[in-house]
Amino acid sequence: MGLQIDISAIVANWKALAARAPGARTAAVVKADGYGCGAARIVPALYRAGARDFFVALAKEGRAIRPHLPDDATINVLSGHMEGADLDGLVPVLNSAEQFFRDRTMRPGRRFAIQLDSGMNRLGMEAAEWAGLRDEALAAKPDFIMSHLACADEPGHPANAAQLRAFRDMTQGVDVPLSLAATGGILLGPEYHFDLVRPGIGLYGGLPFADASPVVRLSLPVIQTRPVAAGEFVGYGATWTAPRPGRIATVAAGYADGILRALSSSGASLYAGGVACPIVGRVSMDLITADVTDLPEVPDHLDLICPEQPIDRLADHAGTIGYEILTALRQRYERSYL
Ligand SMILES: *Cc1c(COP(=O)(O)O)cnc(C)c1O
Repeated sequence: MGLQIDISAIVANWKALAARAPGARTAAVVKADGYGCGAARIVPALYRAGARDFFVALAKEGRAIRPHLPDDATINVLSGHMEGADLDGLVPVLNSAEQFFRDRTMRPGRRFAIQLDSGMNRLGMEAAEWAGLRDEALAAKPDFIMSHLACADEPGHPANAAQLRAFRDMTQGVDVPLSLAATGGILLGPEYHFDLVRPGIGLYGGLPFADASPVVRLSLPVIQTRPVAAGEFVGYGATWTAPRPGRIATVAAGYADGILRALSSSGASLYAGGVACPIVGRVSMDLITADVTDLPEVPDHLDLICPEQPIDRLADHAGTIGYEILTALRQRYERSYL
């Protein structure tokens, strides 16, 4: 009960994505505590499956998983070399000339990688900046050179081909491993794979990897059920009124647990077996109410995330994406790992 995370499904998804990019090494992106699923539990299993390259956003996240991985696993830090960062045992992905010179001054001779901006304008060196630095950077032998796609979840988007061209132009003649694709880029096809692919969301069962095995189940305990008469309201703001005599179940979780308040009366449901019980009224800090009138018997738990309502379906109801549903899940849940 609580938040169940199926590690074997994460491993299966990693292998399935690796099989889509047979010419490349397949890394694992475990930033934000493994997309909320628990990086320290996930990385040893992926290592056993053959993963040797891991990505986190922050040095702090890298230090948290370093003890859970053997020395031959590489942990790359996407924010690069921030001022004062402790990068011991980690490989910074350097995003600017400023980071490059800081890193070469503070960590001469140590491993690093380079990020180029191929059009997303978020992180990485621009073409002109890179041109000025390229010879010196290549002489210092980076582990790899990477960039990131802005629209890889939309296969027809013209930005994909444009970014591919820009990345190729900036890395022409470079004898260093290259990396461009996250989950979406893997699915775009082999010209996007280069030497190293970096799936994140697909490992955790999210789109755009439509063939992913589900990873997360969230079962919430029912505290109380009550009858409501037609015309009675439920919850803060009296935003929902019972259209018929019925029954309401109140479960112990709310927006303080990362269940977005936008799910209030949104069409999302709690599930009892395969039966949908619509969330009615507002999601409050610690409680959710659902209409269980149509259940012959109310079980002691109702599921918010389950095969009938996977993370991306829930995200649609809340007006967000599966990534945010997962990374919002808080530590207050009892967690169990399969
Ligand atoms: C988050 C991230 C990834 C993983 O992306 P997914 O869409 O979750 O597969 C890969 N590379 C970079 C630079 C990222 O920031």
